[in-house]
Amino acid sequence: MSHALASIRSRIAAAETTAGRAAGSVTLVAVSKTQPWDHIAPVLAAGQRVFGENRVQEAMERWTPHRQDVELHLIGPLQTNKVRDAVAFFDVIETVDREKLARALAGEIARQGKAPRLYIQVNIGEEPQKAGIAPAEADGFIALCRDQLGLALEGLMCIPPADDDPAPHFARLRAIADRNGLAKLSMGMSDDFEIAVREGATSVRVGSAIFGSRTYPPA
Ligand SMILES: *Cc1c(COP(=O)(O)O)cnc(C)c1O
Repeated sequence: MSHALASIRSRIAAAETTAGRAAGSVTLVAVSKTQPWDHIAPVLAAGQRVFGENRVQEAMERWTPHRQDVELHLIGPLQTNKVRDAVAFFDVIETVDREKLARALAGEIARQGKAPRLYIQVNIGEEPQKAGIAPAEADGFIALCRDQLGLALEGLMCIPPADDDPAPHFARLRAIADRNGLAKLSMGMSDDFEIAVREGATSVRVGSAIFGSRTYPPA
C-alpha cells in the first residue's frame, strides 16, 4: 500500500509545482475511515503522520495506541453528544457546520482548556442531503463563531457535488475564506485533489487512492 502513498505524494508535489506553489505547501490527510488496520499500518510505517477519520468512536478505538505519533482530523459529522470526546481526542475538527455544535465546542474547549484546530464545513454545492453551512450563511456563521463564541477558526472544508466539475466549487470556497481572512482550505479527495491544489487547497483528504476501496461491514 505504501507505493500508493508515494504515488499520491509525488502527484501532490507535481500539482504544487504546476500551480506555482511552494513545495510542501499542501498537507496530505490520509483518510483511514473504515479501513482495516493491516491497510493502515504500512502507510504509518512509510512515514505518513496525518490521518482523517469520520467517526469519533472508531477513531478512538483504533488510534489510541498510536496517539502520540499522529495528527488526527475529524472529517465526518459531529453530534453534540460526542463533542467532549472529539475535543479531547482530535487535533483538528473539520466539520463545524451549525450553531448548536459551535456552542457546544466553545463550552467544551473552555472546560477542557484545550482547543482542536477548527474548520467550518461549507455545503458548497447546496445539496439538501449534505452537511455544511450554506454558502450564503457562511460569513454570518464565521462571525458568530469568532465574535460571539470566541472560537479560533483555522479554515474551511467542503465536499463538492459528486457529478459536478469541482473547480468552480473549490474557487467559491476559496473566495469565502479569502474575504473572511481564513488561511486554510481543506478540499480535494482521491478523484480531484490535483484540481484542488490548483485552486488553493492547503490540505487534501485522500482515502481510497491510498488505501484501496473501502469495505463497509454490515452494522
Ligand atoms: C471519505 C472521505 C474522503 C476520502 O474520500 P476518497 O474518495 O476515498 O479519497 C474525504 N473527505 C471526506 C469528508 C470523506 O468522508
